[in-house]
This record gives sequence, structure tokens and C-alpha cells, in this order.
Amino acid sequence: MIVVMKPGSSQPQVEHVINLVREMGCKDHVIVGTERTVVAVIGDDRHKDRSRFESVEGVEKVVPILAPYKMASVEMKKERTVVPLAKAGAIGGTKVGVIAGPCSVEDKVHLIEIAHAVKEAGAIGLRGGAFKPRTSPYAFQGLAEEGLKYLAEARDKTGLAIVTEVMSIEQIPACVEYADVLQIGARNMQNFNLLSKVGETSKPVLLKRGMSATLEEFLLAAEYIMARGNQNVMLCERGIRTFEEYVRNTLPLAIVPELHRRSHLPVVVDPSHGTGKAHLVADMCKAAVACGADGIILEVHNDPEHAMTDGAQSLNPKQFGEMMKAIKRIAQAVDREV
Ligand code: PEP
Ligand code: MN
Repeated sequence: MIVVMKPGSSQPQVEHVINLVREMGCKDHVIVGTERTVVAVIGDDRHKDRSRFESVEGVEKVVPILAPYKMASVEMKKERTVVPLAKAGAIGGTKVGVIAGPCSVEDKVHLIEIAHAVKEAGAIGLRGGAFKPRTSPYAFQGLAEEGLKYLAEARDKTGLAIVTEVMSIEQIPACVEYADVLQIGARNMQNFNLLSKVGETSKPVLLKRGMSATLEEFLLAAEYIMARGNQNVMLCERGIRTFEEYVRNTLPLAIVPELHRRSHLPVVVDPSHGTGKAHLVADMCKAAVACGADGIILEVHNDPEHAMTDGAQSLNPKQFGEMMKAIKRIAQAVDREV
């Protein structure tokens, strides 16, 4: 439930509500809006008595939140969330933010070349996996901490925000040290212990949809992060598994407006994993912007044919530059900017 305070309610009145929430054994989350303050009651409040708040001074009304996800829901927060990407920009709001880079960090020279190329074409973030979730234990697993150091160097040289995947709880401190955004991969979307732990950090999180997760499971995964205090969550659609075989995954873009209808969190689309095919990526980037995506994350490599991972779905810098020009036009048509 949320306790909506009257406009102009005093700080002691808000604190009194907070104390009542804690007495109930729930957690409080205070949202100070432009007109009024609301106190969200976090935890299982189904059997708790709402009426006890109704007579408290300074309280206007008590509203139950019907969605199973609370913090992520539009019922809780009407204003859309804008997630800052270090000093590089933000995801959310009127601008569409683009995050680009190789699937894996392979070596320093190539990474820095790619970083300069995507920055020049208008990206605000650099992606690159240092810890790679691979289907085969014999496949390239990533450069680990060495890769994180190269990413940090690329940030120093270009000003791009660094987005990198954290696969396990033990990897969190290193990723927090070197990166600006922690990516939770599709395979870990329901690794609840990992979600809770990244929720305790202050780094923005890019949460990828699990390949067989429903929209509701996706939002409940975001809820795990937010319930631990981290409100800077971006929801990333990266394609789901279906019976279809001409693409690596099926990219269900209808989820973008549906997520916007249910949640205040920004939505990012990944057309690289969403299709698996470089020749489909630019068109899906255009479609993502057209249907309201707040950001795009995609794979760019300066020599896709020789990429160690995901070369088939990576654009080269020239293709990336062309795609960026195309989405600028689409963005304008839907009252956004890139
Ligand atoms: C990636 O971004 O390189 C990746 C492994 O993505 P996903 O978790 O969506 O498969
Ligand atoms: Mn990849």
C-alpha cells in the first residue's frame, strides 16, 4: 500500500507514518514529489490494517497497490524514472540513449578503437562483457578483472559510461569498482540472491529479461533489486525463445509500451541478442525507437568476422554510424531525440 500525505504535510507527520510502518514489520520508502510526499509500505502488507493510517494527521489517503510488483509499478510512482549513466547522460526522459560495444572485451587496443568509434557516432555507453555466461564450459569465458580494467581505461579515454555483466555475487565488488552500470544477464534474471545483492549497491542496473520469463516475472525480478534500495533499474528486452528458427531469439517489441503502461522504469531494447543476425539489427533499432524504447543496447565490433563471441549479430562501426543516423530521424518523428 502507499500512504499519500496531504500537500504541505510536515516532516514530523511523515516521520510518524514511517514509525507506524516499521511497527507493522514492513519497510518504508519515502518518495518526495513536487506536490506531495508518499510513503510506500514495502513488504507483505496484505493482512495489515490500512485504516490505522487513515486517521493519522497529515495523511490524505491510503491506496492499496494491486500489482504484485510494488516499487516498479506506476501505481507507486507516476513520474517516469530517469537512470543516470555516470557523467555520460541518462536513460529515460526525452532522449533515447544508445549503449554499444563488443559482446566480450577481447583486448585493450580493439576495445578502445571500438569505444572511440561508437562515441563519435553518438553512443553514451560502452558495453562489453568481462565475465561471459557461455553455454559451453570450454568456450571463451571472458578476461575477468583484466577486461574490467580495459573498460575503465576506455571510459577514461572517451567519457562513455561502462556497462558490464556481473554473473555472481563474488564478482560484484570488482564490477562496482570499474563499471558504471551492472548488467544482469538473461540467464540470471531469476538469480534472486544476485538480484538482492546488486540491489544493495548504488550502481544503476540493466536487467535483461530471461529468455523464457513472462512480463510479470521480469517486473518481479526488478522488484528484488528495488526492494533492497536500488531504484535505478533499466528493463532490457533481449528476445525470448519461441518455436521460430530464422532468428536466434524472437524480439517481442510490444513489451515496450506494455512495460511503460505498468512501470515507471525505463525500457531498453537489445536487437543484437533479440535477432542474432547483423542484417536485422538496424531495422529493429528503428522499430524499438518508434515504439518508445528509452534506450538501445547493441553489439558493435570492428572486425565482426573474427569476434570471439557473437560476431554474427555485431555491426561494424560503419553500419553502426548509419543506424545512428536512421534512428535520429525516427526519434524526431516520435518526439524524442537521440
Ligand atoms: C550479452 O549482453 O552479451 C549477453 C550475454 O546477453 P543476454 O544475457 O541477454 O544473453
Ligand atoms: Mn553477446
